[in-house]
Amino acid sequence: LLGSSTSRTGSADRAAPARPTGLSEHGRDTAAVLAGLDALRRDDHDYADGTVFNSICSAPLPVARQVFAQALDTNMGDNRIFPSLRRAETEVTALLGDLLGFPDAGGVATSGGTEANLLAVLAALRRDGRRARTGRPARIVLPESAHFSFDKILAMLGVEPVYAPLTPDLRVRVETLRSLVTEDTALVVATAGTSEAGAVDDVPAIAEHTRALGVPLHVDAATGGFLVPFARDLGHPLPPVGLDVPGVTSVTLDPHKYGGAPIPAGQLLVRDAADLDRLRVASHYRGTHDHHGLLGTRPGAAVLATWAALHTLGRAGYRTLVASVFERRELLLGLLRGAGFAVAPAPDLTVVTVRHPAPGQLVDALERRGFIASVARRYGLLRLVVHWHQSEEQLRALVAALTDADRE
Ligand code: PLP
Repeated sequence: LLGSSTSRTGSADRAAPARPTGLSEHGRDTAAVLAGLDALRRDDHDYADGTVFNSICSAPLPVARQVFAQALDTNMGDNRIFPSLRRAETEVTALLGDLLGFPDAGGVATSGGTEANLLAVLAALRRDGRRARTGRPARIVLPESAHFSFDKILAMLGVEPVYAPLTPDLRVRVETLRSLVTEDTALVVATAGTSEAGAVDDVPAIAEHTRALGVPLHVDAATGGFLVPFARDLGHPLPPVGLDVPGVTSVTLDPHKYGGAPIPAGQLLVRDAADLDRLRVASHYRGTHDHHGLLGTRPGAAVLATWAALHTLGRAGYRTLVASVFERRELLLGLLRGAGFAVAPAPDLTVVTVRHPAPGQLVDALERRGFIASVARRYGLLRLVVHWHQSEEQLRALVAALTDADRE
């Protein structure tokens, strides 16, 4: 198991790419550029090739891909040229609000979960106002499992994190979280689908406490937003995680994860329109006077493609896709157990974790066999993400490669 990875991977231990000598004076013809691009992309994987087991994103639906390609020149930063985009954003917000139990939700289409989480924290800080009054840094209570986007956000906004520990099944300990909330707490965060293990926090129990304490609660459902509602419809024992839970004040969900939309498609939903006002910045440009997100010039293609994905699939279409992902998960669990691997803990959603004495070496050995998996570093577990781009045959090939890699 020694030695660095030499396979077609994007791992950090690959040699640094050669530096170009500079922009040439004369351009090349298209055929030469495309040949150069083929060389540049030589090591890229394709979701369809059955080697990608580390990604919560996947290939977008064909219709979303088509709409995206047709709308590459659209700019959400200019509603006078593209008045459709504001309508599309309003409609997507209403559809996603409805999906998460609150059709009257306000919202902002974002570049992904990081931006949506950033906006949720910013709105909470402005709502709180305590920092301005007391000069003390605001505090945010969040699970130890919170996505690393919060590391960026809290550093940028100068907020002190207070981390709540996890249960053995990697959900936040609700009682401890509650005891950590003080008068300096500007926001509590829960996660519906942690990126490392797919764990879904007990949002209703957390919301009961935050509501009683008068503290806002943000649910980071970047990963689970498109999974939990349909999995619940299908009878999986998961709690509600959306704005239908009283006390939840905002939610992040990402159409570019399990929503069938292309990157960059994220969404912030808020219960109270006043939170949008708190995010408002005047651009002074006619037509796009009010900005609520971080980006100025921003792609309309992703919002239009999300609109197309939502209308193409409808609830039944998503339910079928989610059912198929959960079926793949069950197949993978059975194959792993059959091959003697220790699954830990039983997954809530689509991330399967495996106990192994040397998960990093196993991932390297797997990578030498052409497969990309990852390590849930906080827990020291092998992490495999199930997605709809994987076939039964490919899941069997993965477990065969894992078994072989484990013997190395
Ligand atoms: N939150 C969670 C739970 C995530 O899983 C992710 C991404 O995997 C994010 C936030 C960040 O989303 P993005 O990468 O779209 O910015």
